[in-house]
Amino acid sequence: MSDSTLPSASTVPSAGTVPSAPSGRRYVIRGGTVVSMDPAVGDFESADVLVEGTKIVAIGPGLDAGDAEVIDARGRIVVPGFVDTHHHLFETALRSFLPDALLFNDGSGTPAADPSYVEYVLQKFAPAYRPQDVYINSLFGGLSQLDAGVTTVLDISQIHHSPEHTDAAVQALVDTGRRAAFGYFEGDGRTGAAYPEDAYRVRKQWFSSDDQLVTMVMGGEVYLGDDVLTRSWTIARELGLPIAAHAVGSFGQSPIIDALARGEGGANKDLGLGPDVLLIHMTGMSDLAWKAARDAGTKVSVAVPVEMVMRHGTPPLLKMQEMGLEPSLSSDVETTMAADPFTLMRSALTMQRMLVNQAVLDQGGPQPGTPALLRTRDALRFATANGADHLGLGRRTGSLTVGKEADIVLLDATALNVAPVNNAVGAVVSLMDRSNVETVIVAGQIRKWKGQLLGADLNRLGRELEESREYLFRTTGVRRNLLA
Ligand SMILES: [Zn+2]
Repeated sequence: MSDSTLPSASTVPSAGTVPSAPSGRRYVIRGGTVVSMDPAVGDFESADVLVEGTKIVAIGPGLDAGDAEVIDARGRIVVPGFVDTHHHLFETALRSFLPDALLFNDGSGTPAADPSYVEYVLQKFAPAYRPQDVYINSLFGGLSQLDAGVTTVLDISQIHHSPEHTDAAVQALVDTGRRAAFGYFEGDGRTGAAYPEDAYRVRKQWFSSDDQLVTMVMGGEVYLGDDVLTRSWTIARELGLPIAAHAVGSFGQSPIIDALARGEGGANKDLGLGPDVLLIHMTGMSDLAWKAARDAGTKVSVAVPVEMVMRHGTPPLLKMQEMGLEPSLSSDVETTMAADPFTLMRSALTMQRMLVNQAVLDQGGPQPGTPALLRTRDALRFATANGADHLGLGRRTGSLTVGKEADIVLLDATALNVAPVNNAVGAVVSLMDRSNVETVIVAGQIRKWKGQLLGADLNRLGRELEESREYLFRTTGVRRNLLA
């Protein structure tokens, strides 16, 4: 190839020259390979998805869509938007700051390259956040995940030092324009902090309607002590809000989860697990806790790569299989690990199969009770339908189903890293990454179109995030070492 045949830089489309996305209320996604993740709908080598307003109104081959605008999806795999059931969006300015950290200093004497996450992020940085830091961190991290196809998140925002911090966190989720469960968690408990009682105001002011894009989940951390645990869980149930809480055995939380499992949690000894509870990690938990969680219909979110890297304990994928439970997947913290859905799916798949494969090798073959190998389709279900279900949003999103809201991702199956595709789910889970995420739709609104995120000035937001980063490091006096 001679130089003269190379495309010039000026032919590379910029954001300004991106072909305009359909703007109408009605459009048809035509001719894609459709992986619905709804067993009643099934999958199609080639089919159409008709969207009207916020909803999916028809799915099938050769739909008569009348005068609907057409999105050509040939060569694309059409999947439901991904769901991340546990992400701390306020930490975005601290991305990659603690790549080698453990969760906390457990006194084991392990030489650690980095200080612990709890010590640095929660104890040093979090108290320095102003409302504007909460806003720009959460917005930027949210847009990044939207760009990666994550159309729904549970934001575990442990940054509610004041009602102003709270409003900034919710506003960021609203302005991101994707589906989100706002997790109302604690802050640093300073004078003027209003957690958990401010939940009444937040619910009324921001979440008076249940059909919004952003909904509310009550944070009910078990490590805050009996009194706060009781107040937060009681308020959640009074307001009809789901509850989310971390449950990490290595962090000493097993006895508290056991108490909840026995229906003796908190100070009033009247709190129990239920289908309204999402427990995060569940590493190192007792059989008592697992049985109670299963019997109560309690949901479990696993953050497989973070749990493996930061010493939360072994991700409980085999335990959940044994209990007949399935997880949703979560990214947790970008201080230490990527927040895209492909990393999460592949980590779950490879970790589970490593354990089962080694057991089969050690035992000279499968034994009675050897867990089934996880399949790529299982991992995709964890990252879509299970996530929606675990956030109480299963009737609205999580699969491509007529009547559900149109949270849809078009993945480029013609790209250099995946072509030619011979198995659609395999390509998505095992080969793809965020570069394949071409078009992202949230409740019928096209938010990413042909590789470009729409409606966000990323240069400006990036500068604001950097300013926030500079402020946070300056205020805390923590030194940043780019080449540590
Ligand atoms: Zn977490």
